[in-house]
Amino acid sequence: MKFDNITIVVAMEAEAKPVIEKLNLEEDHSYCPGMPMLGWTGHFNGIKLSLVINGKDPETNLDLIGTQAATLATDYAISHYSPQLIINMGTAGAFGENGSEIGDVYLSRDHVVFHDRRVPIPGWDKQSIGYFKVWDTEELALKENFKTGIVTTSNSLDMPPIDEKNIRALGGEVKEMEAAAVAWVARLHGIPLFCVKAVTDLVDSGIPTEEEFRQNLNLATGNLEKAIVKVLNYLAD
Ligand code: SAH
Repeated sequence: MKFDNITIVVAMEAEAKPVIEKLNLEEDHSYCPGMPMLGWTGHFNGIKLSLVINGKDPETNLDLIGTQAATLATDYAISHYSPQLIINMGTAGAFGENGSEIGDVYLSRDHVVFHDRRVPIPGWDKQSIGYFKVWDTEELALKENFKTGIVTTSNSLDMPPIDEKNIRALGGEVKEMEAAAVAWVARLHGIPLFCVKAVTDLVDSGIPTEEEFRQNLNLATGNLEKAIVKVLNYLAD
């Protein structure tokens, strides 16, 4: 066994639900009382598992997404579950020009970065982007035929030209809204992390991202569920 206590950090309920059901996880009512974040626990092939989501914004009753909620959820999950490894699981955009297809599952490669932080001051430039190292998934990706990519994070679903320029300069291949925040907290606590992201939309398709996202959410979350079982089997070996 490579890790015997793993926390899966997810943003949206729809992304987490198929995995919660597949792994027979049970809601943990002692997780994060008084806050929107929700937790589930269980076991998989001897691994102690926990899964946390951001929960719903009390103002809008919609799933919380983005970096603030992910930061809180990750920090609370670490103090509550003391994981040896964190997996940030979710949906993402990717580039058709890189050969990505809707439904593809990516594992993070090298590092996770913020793609919308522009601070041209030596030192703070790098700190703002983050360059948070991820756990090496090359062997797992080869074994289970996953694609790997550099995951980039911002708090926006769209991709204005300045973000596209930065993503290209950073070699970004998988675009989403939480990974760098989760990775920052994991690094502060010295806990290894990697991401498992399923593609809901191609950011260079010309179709509005929000439309593509909704159309493909079910396909992507189904693929996430299948992927996480393969990932956990590998980690349990
Ligand atoms: N809940 C909204 C859409 C949320 S999409 C709706 O139902 O319409 C944003 C979520 O999906 C974020 O958690 C983000 O991590 C992920 N995501 C998927 N595709 C993305 C993209 N192209 N850019 C940024 N985030 C994306």
